Formats: sequence, structure tokens, C-alpha cells
Amino acid sequence: AEGKRLRLQAHAESTYIMVKPDGVQRGLVGEIISRFERKGYTLKGLQMCICDKAKAEEHYKDLAGKPFFPNLVEYICSGPVVCMIWEGTDVVKAGRNLIGVTNPTDAAPGTIRGDFGVEVGRNLVHGSDSIENGAREIALWFGSEEAVEWEPTMTPWIKELN
Ligand code: GDP
Ligand code: MG
Repeated sequence: AEGKRLRLQAHAESTYIMVKPDGVQRGLVGEIISRFERKGYTLKGLQMCICDKAKAEEHYKDLAGKPFFPNLVEYICSGPVVCMIWEGTDVVKAGRNLIGVTNPTDAAPGTIRGDFGVEVGRNLVHGSDSIENGAREIALWFGSEEAVEWEPTMTPWIKELN
């Protein structure tokens, strides 16, 4: 059992998922969490906060030169966000598949943005775009004590372990 547990952790991939202020205001927190839960991913960290400007700028630093950057920072700081760490097989890529492409107009029905959004500046949810950025964003939004180490008893029904 210990061997299996360690192997699971060795393969574990994590991503940073955040319900943006519009998703919180529209009452979609439960809906968004449900989609990740039902898919088979594991919630490893969860908290709510109101983001300040410096943190929003750090989170989106790769986009600092874009014309929409000031509006983006204002949007992210405009109300509470729900911050999450999700873990599981290929969760970075699959998480972005659950979310849908950046512009909700183009996002496929069945994705979060495709089902609930209409504009790129109000696209409801963030998901890390790489394993490296996932680690960077988790470290930015969560303190070292704030992630929860646990393994669901259901794991063998989600993952083929050997
Ligand atoms: P994501 O990874 O799909 O969230 O997209 P990006 O990393 O390219 O952009 C980050 C966020 O900036 C998006 O989720 C949008 O909220 C916002 N954004 C991106 N492109 C545009 C744009 O052209 N106009 C506006 N207003 N916001 C944008
Ligand atoms: Mg991005």
C-alpha cells in the first residue's frame, strides 16, 4: 500500500484553477468545482480571497505588454476569487479542456466557458497552461501549509495503479 501511495504521488500532476470574480458573482463556484470532481480530479487546496493589484500583475506577468492588461488586472481584483489546487493524471491539459478556449464565443459547448460565458474579458475561470506555470501559480496563491495532502479512497476506481 505504501508503494502504491508513493507511486501515485510520484506521478501526480497539479494545476492552479481559479474561479474569477464573474464566476463567483454569478454563483458558478459549485458548478465549476463539480466539473473537476466528476471528471476524477482531486481537490488539494481551496481558499477564497480578494486579489490585490501586485499579485494580479505577478500572476499575469507574461501578458504585461498586452493592451488589455490594465483591464485584466482590474477584472481579477474586482471581487472575490476562489483559488484551487487540482491534482490528477494530465490535469493541466485536461483542466484546460474542461475550461475551454480563452474566448467563450469560440469555446465548445460542454466546456465551462462555452456553457456560461460570452466575452473574453469575462471568461469565468483560470487554468494553468503548463506544469511549470502550475507550480509557479500554486506557489503564488498558496502558502506551504495551505495545500492539503490526502488521497481519496476512490483513487483505484479512477486510476489504473499497476
Ligand atoms: P487563458 O490562458 O485562456 O486564460 O488566456 P491567456 O493566458 O491568453 O489570457 C489570460 C486572460 O486574459 C484571459 O483568460 C482573459 O481573461 C484575458 N484576455 C486574454 N485575451 C484578451 C483580450 O483580447 N481581451 C481582453 N479584454 N481580455 C483578454
Ligand atoms: Mg493563460
